Amino acid sequence: MTTTTITPEAKQAGDDALVFSALRASINRIDERLLQLLAERAKVATNIGLAKRVTDRPIHDAIREAEHTGQLCRLGEALGLPPRVVRDFYQVLARHGFAAQLEVRAANTSRATPPDSDGFRLARIEPGRAPTVVQVGEARIGAGLFEVIAGPCAVESEAQINLAADHARAAGVRVLRGGAFKPRTSPYEFQGHGLQGLRWLADAAHSRGMAVVTEVLDPADAQAVAEHAELLQIGARNMQNVPLLRACARTGRPVLLKRGPSASIREWLCAGEYILLEGNPNVVLCERGIRTFERETRNTLDLSSVAALRELTHLPVIVDPSHAAGRDELIPALCRAAHAVGAQGVIVEMHPCKEEALCDKRQALRPVTLRGITNELQSVAVSG
Ligand code: PEP
Ligand code: MN
Repeated sequence: MTTTTITPEAKQAGDDALVFSALRASINRIDERLLQLLAERAKVATNIGLAKRVTDRPIHDAIREAEHTGQLCRLGEALGLPPRVVRDFYQVLARHGFAAQLEVRAANTSRATPPDSDGFRLARIEPGRAPTVVQVGEARIGAGLFEVIAGPCAVESEAQINLAADHARAAGVRVLRGGAFKPRTSPYEFQGHGLQGLRWLADAAHSRGMAVVTEVLDPADAQAVAEHAELLQIGARNMQNVPLLRACARTGRPVLLKRGPSASIREWLCAGEYILLEGNPNVVLCERGIRTFERETRNTLDLSSVAALRELTHLPVIVDPSHAAGRDELIPALCRAAHAVGAQGVIVEMHPCKEEALCDKRQALRPVTLRGITNELQSVAVSG
């Protein structure tokens, strides 16, 4: 039988190798962490690029860069790193961030003109044409940051809309919705408080720093509504009501154009074209579900329309999952889906006391659920 004896030299060499590989493993882990941080930084840089596009700021800010480099060098020195190393490192980071921001700026401007699009030649995408950004109060819809618009289906009373506005603002909402003129399916249902409701809505929103979106039902009301609301909604039932499209367009206010329950994407774009042709460039399209054989949901949310519209039009597109789903428990998932497919935002119904809602009770979100949605999605970069 033979025995192996380990010489002290061999043992030392083995120990050294172990120490060496442990050190390598730990530096590898640090590099991996740095890479993860770099990926995280790239996402933030993209968001900064979008925020700069939203606020029309230049991509390169030499003063901020010099200040920030100075701060990093001082911190580096305190950590025992020579300024040269910090500067070299930061330059690589800055170049990377700069490229991410440039990409955001260039996004969406190189798509080809869609075929057979003469019927919506103002709405269609064209190479070199920048995406339309629609400013509504603090919100810049279409500028690349996801917007969550929320509020009750209907303005029911001054107290109700004030409470709803409190919850909406606390959740970070910038545009408050609420119906004053309600297009109800049955004439026996609550029809809204009309102009009085509009005044309550406008006071509730404006006193809290929010803008207003509300529906216009009658061309004769367009001007009066425009005096109180920053965004005029044309409801699904009225998508092809040409006198209403024109009347809303002529107020000069931005228009939120909902898709008709049985309108094709092209019919919807042609409806938007009527508004653009009046010289009003500020149109936001809103997918709110279409009528199909399905009865589990109120309507069928056609998210493929959002993806299709991104190829067809420079106009921003948002999604209304409330009227599509008809049930509040489906709405957070549909908001996520809307974001994933490239929508620029959502408009959702929220009631401060769901059980008491006079209108669309089943689909009303509770304030806490709205807050979950805004926490997750408000101002997040639009995908695609
Ligand atoms: C609404 O948003 O209040 C509404 C009535 O929606 P739609 O026109 O999509 O049915
Ligand atoms: Mn409703």
